[in-house]
Amino acid sequence: MSDAERPSAIGQALLAISDQWTLLILQRAFLLHTRRFADWRDQLGMSESVLANRLKELVAGELLRPEPYREAGRARTEYLLTERAIELWPMLVEIWSWERRWVPRRHSLPELVHETCGSRTDVELGCASCGRAPVTARDTETVRAAATFAQVTVPRHHRRTVRGEAERDPLSYLPDTFELLGDRWSTVILAAAFLGMRRFADFQSELGVAPSVLSNRLRRFTELGVLAVEEPGARPRYRLTGKGLDFFGIFAFVVEWAQAWYTGPPNTDLRVTHRACGQPFRPCLRCRSCGRAISRTEVHFVVPEVLPERRLPLAGTA
Ligand SMILES: [Zn+2]
Ligand SMILES: [Zn+2]
Repeated sequence: MSDAERPSAIGQALLAISDQWTLLILQRAFLLHTRRFADWRDQLGMSESVLANRLKELVAGELLRPEPYREAGRARTEYLLTERAIELWPMLVEIWSWERRWVPRRHSLPELVHETCGSRTDVELGCASCGRAPVTARDTETVRAAATFAQVTVPRHHRRTVRGEAERDPLSYLPDTFELLGDRWSTVILAAAFLGMRRFADFQSELGVAPSVLSNRLRRFTELGVLAVEEPGARPRYRLTGKGLDFFGIFAFVVEWAQAWYTGPPNTDLRVTHRACGQPFRPCLRCRSCGRAISRTEVHFVVPEVLPERRLPLAGTA
């Protein structure tokens, strides 16, 4: 692919993960160490063709690694998270935390245990460059190069969305995140809002998004309480609500991961700076109970109905 056709690092990352089924497949691999076709199919109620298609994409995108095994004398394949995929763990924990803060639901969410201090806890966003926490969107400054969002939404085959049953499943704690991160246009529009875009015409000209797609996403974001309309009328202005601004933590982990694992053409990076230290903002998660930075191998989720006594660390490495 030539530079002109290649999306930015963030664009490539969104092509790899910005899909509802893909996020659920990865989430099950992290939480339950799922690695076999039939297990994902049964846990998620997915059709075999959609699952086969997503697994193929995840392998091609180097997020899952196929590994042969034998069962009842037959050669079969299981799929393990690659190092690249495992580094998505703080994004998944931050998604859990954001959903817990902002999305009311009928069933309780899994609980996060920090083994270092023994607490059932929550996380807060910190800056790994200077060690300060908490850090919010307002404590940072994001600058993008002109072409950051070019080619992000190259056409792909039809995306099938996840059915509503996921809502009843205590492990499927992503309902609002799906709408923001499970669709590339949505994520890009939200990113543009973080960069200060406010008006319909600005989103449209900056992102090259079709007006119908843009108005559909802006309306949905307003319904979800992520954006609020200021100055309604012919030229409405949109602003991020508290819920929308708080999604910054997830956004920051996506940006960090994208720029660590993908290379875009020159001049397509996004730079997030932590104002307090003046250094690049490197997001990290701190335990709200003990204040220490958490690492993947020191936390696990407890899901009373599903994982009563099991202590599974995040991510299913062999
Ligand atoms: Zn800092
Ligand atoms: Zn702790």
